[in-house]
Amino acid sequence: MITAERKPMDEIMESIDGCGRILLVGCNECVTVCAAGGRKEVALLASALQMASMKKGRALDVREMTLERQCDPEYVEELAPHIGQVDAVLSMACGCGVQEIARRFKTTRVFPALNTTFMGASEGPGIWAERCQGCGDCLLGLTGGICPIARCAKRLMNGPCGGSGNGKCEISDDVDCAWHLIWERMKELGIEDRYEDVISAKDWRTGRGGGPRRIVREDLK
Ligand code: SF4
Ligand code: SF4
Repeated sequence: MITAERKPMDEIMESIDGCGRILLVGCNECVTVCAAGGRKEVALLASALQMASMKKGRALDVREMTLERQCDPEYVEELAPHIGQVDAVLSMACGCGVQEIARRFKTTRVFPALNTTFMGASEGPGIWAERCQGCGDCLLGLTGGICPIARCAKRLMNGPCGGSGNGKCEISDDVDCAWHLIWERMKELGIEDRYEDVISAKDWRTGRGGGPRRIVREDLK
C-alpha cells in the first residue's frame, strides 16, 4: 500500500491561510489503513484545525468528507456539489488523490494535508516499512522475494557492498542489509548457489528514468 504521514499542523495552517471555508477530504483506501487520512483522521484534523483557528481569533468552517478512493474520478465526482461552497480543498489522500481533485476541479485550490512517503508493508502495529519503488520490471524472482531497489540503500543489483556488517547496512545498525536478507532467504529456499549469479544492469526506463508512466489496458478501455 501507499503510506503517508500527516504534515505538521503549522504547515497545514499556513497552506490554508486566508481560507474561511475548507472541504477536508479523506480517502478510504491506503491512507485509512496507515491511519493517516481515513474518516477518523479527517475528524481529528477538522477539530484540530478549528481549535488552531480559534486560537488565532479566526473562524474556520471545515466540512468533512471521506471518499471511497480519491485517485478515482468516479468517486472524486462526489465532491462536485460541495466544491462551490468552499474556498479550498484540503486533501488527506496520497499525492495521487490530491492531483485527481486538482485535475477535476480546475478553479479550486487543493492543498495536501499529508506527506506521501512510500509503497510499503506493515511490520507491526504502527510500523510500516518501504518495500517497493515501482521500478516497472520486478526482479523479486531473482532475489528471493526481497527487493534490493527499495531495501538496499545503494539500490545495488548485486550485493552486498563493503559496508555490510553483522547483517546490518552501513547507514544504520537499525537497518537490515537487503543483500544479507536475500542471502538468508536464498539459504532457506535451498537456492544459495544462485546468489552469485550476476544480475545484469537494470534498464531504468521502465521506472521513473523513462519519465511519467502510464498503463493502458486495451481490454478495459
Ligand atoms: S523489483 Fe521493482 S517492482 Fe519489484 S519490488 Fe522492487 S521496486 Fe518493486
Ligand atoms: S550494506 Fe547492504 S543494504 Fe546497505 S548499501 Fe550495502 S548492500 Fe545495500
